[in-house]
Amino acid sequence: MKIHYAEMTNHLGSSAVRDILKVTQGKDIISLAGGLPAEELFPLEAVRDAYDRALAGSASSLQYGLTEGYAPLREAVAARLGRQGISVQAGDMLLTTGSQQAIDLFCKVLLNPGDKVLVEAPTYLAALQVLNSYRADIVTVDNDEEGMLPEHLEEQLKLHRPKVLYAVPTFNNPSGSSWSRERRERTVELCRRYNVLILEDNPYGEIAFDEAPGAYPPAMAAIDRSSGEEPCVVYTGTFSKIVAPALRTGWITGPSELIGVIAKAKQAADLHSSAIDQRALYELLQHFDIEAHIRIISREYHSRMKLLAGELSTARWKAASFREPRGGMFLWLELPSGINTSRLLPYAVEQGVAFVPGEVFYAANPLKNAMRLNFTHTPPELLPAAVRRLEAALENYERTLARAADTLV
Ligand code: PMP
Repeated sequence: MKIHYAEMTNHLGSSAVRDILKVTQGKDIISLAGGLPAEELFPLEAVRDAYDRALAGSASSLQYGLTEGYAPLREAVAARLGRQGISVQAGDMLLTTGSQQAIDLFCKVLLNPGDKVLVEAPTYLAALQVLNSYRADIVTVDNDEEGMLPEHLEEQLKLHRPKVLYAVPTFNNPSGSSWSRERRERTVELCRRYNVLILEDNPYGEIAFDEAPGAYPPAMAAIDRSSGEEPCVVYTGTFSKIVAPALRTGWITGPSELIGVIAKAKQAADLHSSAIDQRALYELLQHFDIEAHIRIISREYHSRMKLLAGELSTARWKAASFREPRGGMFLWLELPSGINTSRLLPYAVEQGVAFVPGEVFYAANPLKNAMRLNFTHTPPELLPAAVRRLEAALENYERTLARAADTLV
């Protein structure tokens, strides 16, 4: 039978990261490709205990639940956000199947084909996939390590009249960089002036390496809500990186009218996210010190990042550059401009190491000589070997290029 797919399937794409993970599975490959947390740090016993409590409480844990999510967990998430300076009402929040679903539902209810959306470059690959699936017209705003450039942002706002701006301003996936306070303020100010909703995607903000109070600027959502004006920042977060991704629990919070419309779309998508997972998370928050746990994983990730950065800076290659991220799970490595990291990847896999080529994280004009390296999933004792394998891959790649150039002469 010939299957006639909907037009949107032509715009789905496939995640390069997932494709790479498939190649690396079951082989002796050190993968710095996936965005995976460290399994050995999952609070296994506490999670088991939380599920026991959720199931012991009553059989209603196994019943259908509210589309908006388990009310006590919504209250607990709202209270945590309040402690982080983002004052929200639990009623203006929806629990979602990971923040990935929050991004999808947000785009679903707002975007018609051809609507313009502003993004930074590079940006989160699976958000680009979602935007493409709704056939948004993705427009890039120039940025540096401090965030979007306000002059260019204003130019793009005037020129394109976008509906939405999507950003990961804290410990970005893939670049690891974080926006300054000033750029956050300017972005909120400009988007409000031009009536553009911001989707602030913040899965990594709590994985912060510097423990000094005030070391980091507030979330754009906090800046937005403290202004006394109508909110223009919609904020999504997740338990995936601070507890475990398998619990598939995230949240989205924003103007109540919008959250109501997103709730209707969620009802059509899946009625509600897993009730038992949400109850277990609630129990976890009651009986387990999640703040201490976040400090433990952040310290460990910091030390793995330092180890990787140290290995990279003493590697034999020339003119590679990177900035140490101040949190999160990724380091962005730029090799000399002639090197195409997509072409380098097969050489790396042959040597037993994997990364994600930087070009997949761009809507347009990709940087071809960059790569995203994850430093959280690989056991630290393997990180030096990963860098040695990368060096060997680069040498083989350059040797092949030189040979090809010889045969052309
Ligand atoms: N946003 C960003 C920037 C991410 O890196 C991820 C996870 N890779 C997500 C959203 C989705 O995470 P989850 O659905 O597990 O909450």
